[in-house]
Amino acid sequence: MIGILGGTFDPVHFGHLRTALDVCEVLALDEVRLIPCHLPPHRGRPVATSRQRVNMLEAAVQGYSAFVVDQRELGREGPSYTIDTLTSLRAELGATGLCLLIGMDAFRGLTTWHRWGELIDLCHLVVMTRPGARIPAQGELADFIRLNRVDSADELQQQAAGRLLFQPVTRLEISATDIRKRLAEGRSADFLIPEAVHKLINREGLYQGRQ
Ligand code: ATP
Repeated sequence: MIGILGGTFDPVHFGHLRTALDVCEVLALDEVRLIPCHLPPHRGRPVATSRQRVNMLEAAVQGYSAFVVDQRELGREGPSYTIDTLTSLRAELGATGLCLLIGMDAFRGLTTWHRWGELIDLCHLVVMTRPGARIPAQGELADFIRLNRVDSADELQQQAAGRLLFQPVTRLEISATDIRKRLAEGRSADFLIPEAVHKLINREGLYQGRQ
């Protein structure tokens, strides 16, 4: 099975990397694809260019062979829709199990995603939660949960797509927004991002005076 973590990664930080590693270990994934989006559908343009965000990701995962930076969204015009990315991965990988990793914050907004109801036909959804996290109990999302949820990682192995798992991960209160703010204010982002990412940010003069 392959994990997919999409995001803006502006910049990539330990909140992305450690939680992805947690899921990789628990689900015994063969690899995790980190897929930076070109034009995020739900927010403004990233501060760093696509090339800079890829370079930061490559630097962050250097030496971790299970983590692969996948640039397929950068070649597409228009907004980066996850459904298109999954369709293209499915075409390439055939019947391989695919697990889309998403944070609980992103999952709460799932029903606003383009063609959201079709995502589960192409992959499993693995929602990265914190111990004791409240799971939506009402509305469209609650119905979706009731229909698709499984309780153990083993159940994902039985088919290539179609199941929803809530997976507790290491709690790390880190966000790219907070890192950009710190850097813009001339404060340190040490121990929030890998050292190699820090070096690139300094070399390119990224995020200074901009958030
Ligand atoms: P920003 O602050 O710019 O919105 P971000 O730090 O939330 O960025 P994204 O690139 O937007 O990072 O996130 C990509 C994915 O990683 C999303 O599914 C998000 O929920 C998840 N994620 C981000 N930070 C964490 C974290 N600290 N712990 C767990 N998941 C995270």
